[in-house]
Amino acid sequence: MKHKGMLIVLSGFSGAGKGTVVKELVKKYGYQVSISATTRSPREGEVDGREYYFKTKQEFESMIEENGFIEWAQYVGNYYGTPRAFVEDALLEGKNVILEIEVQGALNIKKQYPDAILLFIAPPSATILKERLIGRGTEDIETVNKRLCRAKEEAQDMEQYEYLVINDVLDECVEQVHQIVLNESCRMRSQSDFINTIKTELENL
Ligand code: 5GP
Repeated sequence: MKHKGMLIVLSGFSGAGKGTVVKELVKKYGYQVSISATTRSPREGEVDGREYYFKTKQEFESMIEENGFIEWAQYVGNYYGTPRAFVEDALLEGKNVILEIEVQGALNIKKQYPDAILLFIAPPSATILKERLIGRGTEDIETVNKRLCRAKEEAQDMEQYEYLVINDVLDECVEQVHQIVLNESCRMRSQSDFINTIKTELENL
């Protein structure tokens, strides 16, 4: 008997290592990842349709009008959004889907999908966060500073998440996230399909 697919929302400050955590979850445990659309420019090495669907502002705004996103938000001057079709189809097929999105989007998802699991990934300290952002070398110092400012704002919303996982040692962080998902999938409210089936089977014994 298949479980209903779970929606897993991962957020965290830019530079907290969410992307790496997600890649490991896909590789080790076969999670599905929703690829977002964005109006920001691709970073070196990023491929359209792999990291993001890169869109013009006009294309993005048309998708909003067509109800093509389950959520969208603006982040440091750009639009980011979760395309609706992939998520809805994967959940129907019973797959666990990860959304790697920022705080406004995460809270929006929880309103629409009350069973979604909201996890916040944090670095061990603010100093380490700054070092990681600078060390990554993908943004100029002005953008790094903007992202650190945004982190300060996001920290105000951290407590609205259900779980906080510290990304110090990558493997441990990945295991912790996976364990949380396993535990959540055992909740009674996540198992209505199984419950209904076994009740019917018992009636018919
Ligand atoms: P980045 O530019 O570093 O790839 O992403 C910036 C922020 O946007 C990150 O916090 C990331 O999680 C968030 N983000 C990526 N995709 C989406 C999305 O579809 N919706 C929302 N709300 N945030 C997103």
